[in-house]
Amino acid sequence: MHPFHYRAGQLYVDDCLVSEIVERYGTPCYVYSELYLRERYHAFAHALGEQTLTCYAVKANSNLHLLRRLAQWGAGFDIVSAGELARVLRAGGDPKKIVFSGVGKSRDEIHAALDAGIFCLNVESAAELERIAEVATKMGLRAPVALRVNPDVDPGTHKYIATGLKESKFGIPIAAAEALYRRAAEWPSIAFIGVAAHIGSQLIDLQPLGAAARRLRDLYERLRDSGITLRHIDCGGGVGIRYHEENAPSPADYAAVLDTALAGLQVRRVVELGRSLVGNAGALLTTVEYWKKNEGKHFCVVDAAMNDLLRPSLYGAWHEFLPLRQSDAPLRDCDIVGPVCESGDFLAKNRPLPAIAAGESLAILGAGAYGFAMSSQYNSRPRAAEILVQGAEIRCIRRRETLADLLGPEEDCLVD
Ligand SMILES: *Cc1c(COP(=O)(O)O)cnc(C)c1O
Repeated sequence: MHPFHYRAGQLYVDDCLVSEIVERYGTPCYVYSELYLRERYHAFAHALGEQTLTCYAVKANSNLHLLRRLAQWGAGFDIVSAGELARVLRAGGDPKKIVFSGVGKSRDEIHAALDAGIFCLNVESAAELERIAEVATKMGLRAPVALRVNPDVDPGTHKYIATGLKESKFGIPIAAAEALYRRAAEWPSIAFIGVAAHIGSQLIDLQPLGAAARRLRDLYERLRDSGITLRHIDCGGGVGIRYHEENAPSPADYAAVLDTALAGLQVRRVVELGRSLVGNAGALLTTVEYWKKNEGKHFCVVDAAMNDLLRPSLYGAWHEFLPLRQSDAPLRDCDIVGPVCESGDFLAKNRPLPAIAAGESLAILGAGAYGFAMSSQYNSRPRAAEILVQGAEIRCIRRRETLADLLGPEEDCLVD
């Protein structure tokens, strides 16, 4: 489920004592298990088989050192910006395994992607397809393209991370996509190689994913029957994980849903998995600063805040908290909050927590995906360090930001 466990009352991640990480690097600090990430990647890649290009969705956690390992293990990558492209290339990712998603690709981003020779651009509108054709024409090449269609299925997830409903900004309505394939089929600068969809994130029920794959298949078959033969179907990402009591699908469950929807079809498959690979590989470590009590309500004030981990504030997300030293202190219902000056700055609400002393630390689990990646310097708080655990070894993979990192870009511009 996740790599954090107690031995003799002390919290470990794999074979590392978490308190040693805190001593060496301080808090707030992210820690990831390489072993867990590797197992998750291999479990999905194995279940999905040779027929599938298993891509990692970089936006979930874009640390170069994690990307480098995923590239070594054979992963492809799903990117959403030129910045992510640069990260993947720097990490040694194979351009022939990169898909580029997103509704707002700029000319420069399209140019960079074509220049790198990526596998496929997932196109989200007719206007974007025209822009890609224009850039490719200037470069004298054919752009490999899939249309990202909007299959209009309700993934049954938080509304901020549902992307496949017809009112969503993502993709091209599936009916309109067919017409666009036909209209652009003969354009010399566009090579239609696939069709794609991504319906949302943190999907616990896989049935909507199956329904979306089925709709992609129907479109693929209609196009084939009219003479447009695509080579792959990209089913996106979105497989959910267990944060609390969710019954998260296994890699085998997921593979079975795609197998059923796409049975008998001799076509390459692509998936774009973020959270399900890295989410439970990581935790955010934080230290209790103070306890306070207002009007009978207890607050545990910690040194991590919404700028470090936005998910509770943004989605009301639930994360498990584990003290570094197992405690038999009585449980106390409290809000766990950070130092940021916003009432929306909380990490947990009404949570029973052992009344551990100020100065003691906690691990916030399930923070490997959309944790550091969504962090900011809000309230002029330098971003946290990131640590990778490799078995019994502890490696810093992003140093804690300094005040110089905070002030530098402005000081570069100092005008008297
Ligand atoms: C965010 C995203 C993903 C990954 O979603 P997860 O829920 O992290 O698996 C995949 N594809 C696209 C297009 C995305 O935007």
